[in-house]
Amino acid sequence: MEERVRLSIVVPCYNEEPSIAALHAALTTAATALPDDEVEILFVDDGSTDGTLAALRDLATRDPAVRYISFSRNFGKEAAMLAGLQRTQGDAVVLLDADLQHPPHLLPQMVALYKQGYDQVVAVRDRSGEPTLRRIPARLFYRAVNRWVDVRLHDGAGDFRLLSREVVEALLALPEYHRFSKGLFSWVGFDTISLPFPHEPRQAGTSTWSFGKLFNYALDGLLSFNHKPLRLVVYVGLLQTLIALGYAIWVVVKAAVEGVDMPGYATLISAVIGMGGVQLMVLGVIGEYIGRIYHESKRRPHFLIRESDSTRQAGRDRAA
Ligand code: UDP
Ligand code: MG
Repeated sequence: MEERVRLSIVVPCYNEEPSIAALHAALTTAATALPDDEVEILFVDDGSTDGTLAALRDLATRDPAVRYISFSRNFGKEAAMLAGLQRTQGDAVVLLDADLQHPPHLLPQMVALYKQGYDQVVAVRDRSGEPTLRRIPARLFYRAVNRWVDVRLHDGAGDFRLLSREVVEALLALPEYHRFSKGLFSWVGFDTISLPFPHEPRQAGTSTWSFGKLFNYALDGLLSFNHKPLRLVVYVGLLQTLIALGYAIWVVVKAAVEGVDMPGYATLISAVIGMGGVQLMVLGVIGEYIGRIYHESKRRPHFLIRESDSTRQAGRDRAA
């Protein structure tokens, strides 16, 4: 007989009021396809400003499989996923977006692969349905990361995945403040398998990712995993020194052969501006790393919780 699996589903929610009910229904349907297993759903309200929290409170009173925690403000999806992982006890944990872009009907397949012994079952999204304006930067990003970062990232593989208890414990043992989950998942390793699924448009609301946010995310991904950009900077400096040296030799030789001649304002000004640009960029890269050290050294909590199903329960008990 097959073992009974305790499955925890973690759903980060930021202003997802319009999706919560449909998502809960879809998850409940998916859970009926797993009659031998135990399914709990943990919603993490990431400081939503709409009716998300009220919807979660309501769900938690009606469905015993539903739990929730609510942050004191918006701390970001990475923090929400971390909080969810910390508060689940399941043998396997699934991370899933609230906007129904991660189809819950894949859950039975994911659990089946987990039962076959896989530690990470990664749902890999097919990007063909996505707008080109998002697809091209994404492709460039993955190309850059896989070239410049020590960790392998797979395009289309996002946060929608099942993690075994071992993987969850491994992730929780990584204390860094700047969390770049895609990289962390790949860094911890374990037996991983991918499960393709078609891209689905957002069901309701709007994506909170602006182009600027995505750009910053990409930069985070490149910088938070290694110090290769610093190495790149060394090469840039070296290249520039060589070019300058070559040019200097050429100028000296030219002066010796043709006599001294002093025009060259254009060369001078381009060199000054060019050098200034390179230096600023290099300083920027160094600054990014120092900024990261500064943030890590403060050791602040990743999030603050203002309410959860258990505190609310306790509050009610006290009042009674
Ligand atoms: N999310 C979150 N905190 C945030 C932004 C987003 O918890 O600050 C959640 C959001 O509710 C959703 C998931 O993260 O469940 C993915 O967000 P979104 O759909 O905006 O991203 P996309 O699918 O466009 O990558
Ligand atoms: Mg989405």
